Amino acid sequence: MITKSDSTTIKSYLEDSSNLHGGHADKVLIPENTAELSSILIECTSKKMPVTISGGGTTTTGSRIPFGGIVVSTEKLNRIISIDKRALSCVVEAGATVDDLQSACGKEGLFYTSHPTEKNAFLGGTIATNASGARSYRYGPTRKAVKRLKMVLATGEIFELRRGEKLFTGRGVSFGLPGGRRIEVALPSYDMPNVKNAAGYFVKDDMDLIDLFIGQEGTLSVITEAELGLELKPPEIRSCFAFFKDEENSWAFAEDLKGKKEWKILSVEYFSENALKLLRRKNPNVPPASRGAIFFEEEGEEGQRYSAADRWLKFIKTRGGSVDDTWVAMNEKDAENFTSFRYAIPEAVNEIVKASGFRKFSTDIAVPGGNFLEMMRFYKDLFRDDGIRNVVFGHIGENHVHANALPVQGAELRRAESICLEFVKKGVSLGGTVSAEHGIGKIKHMYLKEMYGDKGISEMVMVKKALDPGAILGLDNIFPKELLQ
Ligand SMILES: Cc1cc2nc3c(=O)[nH]c(=O)nc-3n(C[C@H](O)[C@H](O)[C@H](O)COP(=O)(O)OP(=O)(O)OC[C@H]3O[C@@H](n4cnc5c(N)ncnc54)[C@H](O)[C@@H]3O)c2cc1C
Repeated sequence: MITKSDSTTIKSYLEDSSNLHGGHADKVLIPENTAELSSILIECTSKKMPVTISGGGTTTTGSRIPFGGIVVSTEKLNRIISIDKRALSCVVEAGATVDDLQSACGKEGLFYTSHPTEKNAFLGGTIATNASGARSYRYGPTRKAVKRLKMVLATGEIFELRRGEKLFTGRGVSFGLPGGRRIEVALPSYDMPNVKNAAGYFVKDDMDLIDLFIGQEGTLSVITEAELGLELKPPEIRSCFAFFKDEENSWAFAEDLKGKKEWKILSVEYFSENALKLLRRKNPNVPPASRGAIFFEEEGEEGQRYSAADRWLKFIKTRGGSVDDTWVAMNEKDAENFTSFRYAIPEAVNEIVKASGFRKFSTDIAVPGGNFLEMMRFYKDLFRDDGIRNVVFGHIGENHVHANALPVQGAELRRAESICLEFVKKGVSLGGTVSAEHGIGKIKHMYLKEMYGDKGISEMVMVKKALDPGAILGLDNIFPKELLQ
């Protein structure tokens, strides 16, 4: 086991991509195997010492930032243990990165479908947050890929769950641990919205117990190993940037694309006028008159890039696009460049947030398809009326974009906060979720309360108490730690 306690060495473990300040911890422990991890947790539970689990630190919600106690990093549990091409699955340790897995799969003609934009995320972190990304439009979130988990509870027990092995009856379950102890869990009574969702604990009648541990934000267990489903690499992934004269045209085009069920669309991503202004700094060729854009990817047989481009262009023109304002990737290199260009936008926003010194004010709301355009107009109107600097981009295919308020000076902080809360209230009133992929962490407690109310939150607290009786793991993630007293 490695121990770090020097303040300079541990500095990077006290922050994440939320830009939330004030993180502090006594030390960082880096176990090299599950037995070491188990001993650390037994000791911490006996001393009631808070533990923050650290993955890649790329979360935007503050959930990886400790406020006291110790940090336990999974970085040394980082092997890709096996890849089984016939079974289309792999076994990985929690500290391996998404990028490590994608590279290893690529060599075997396979790919891992859960594709968060930030490739330095650890696989354990993506499971703990039920991450998704552009391609979850076709393949679903991380949850869908998880077949088995190996975990350590705060009480030190090491246990495994295979999907299908242990189900709730209604909302209750009782399960045994290898040492003989039994745990009973009663799920909260809320119903989750029928949209892409990563807000609070996953809850459904008769659900699989493994699903409770996916999206738990480091509050219920430490995930050490996972078996994940893979897919055969499609023969060709084609992609396109279609630029439009205004934002509404690009929304309408995205709606059209969603209707094309016969096309194997992998992702449908949106860029607002302000997002394009940021992208123009990276690439001056972004059409000067464009005020909205859609990036999309399609999989299919090899050698069909030209015929696909013809098919798309006809379609793009119906929404006012043109050949001149459409970029089509003509080879794999182009496709890679497009993907990096698409990724540049969250990175650019994070750079602005970091430079401002303020925490991130970004929504992660998804609403049912029928209400999506109403939500988009709400974002646009409120941002226009307020005048605060803003950027909207994201996974429009899943009725889910990130609306970022970017305060430039301290006086704008209150406004950024209140605009985001307005968005949240609107999203909830339209039957949506306050977090479709990033989770709640330490900065969105108020949003979760809008969604599930005090009752839902206190029922989540009971779930945590059943699995972490000493209340040491991921304190202040999902709900305030005071509720655990
Ligand atoms: C530029 C950028 C783009 C992004 N794009 C996307 C995107 O497209 N989709 C998306 O979903 N997210 C996105 N994110 C957010 C982030 O990448 C994901 O939330 C990711 O899953 C976090 O993984 P991580 O390893 O960095 O976790 P961390 O940040 O280290 O931790 C996140 C949470 O998981 C817990 N945790 C970590 N490891 C474990 C473990 N082994 N066991 C139990 N709990 C654990 C931590 O305690 C914490 O609560 C983006 C972030 C950035 C900066």
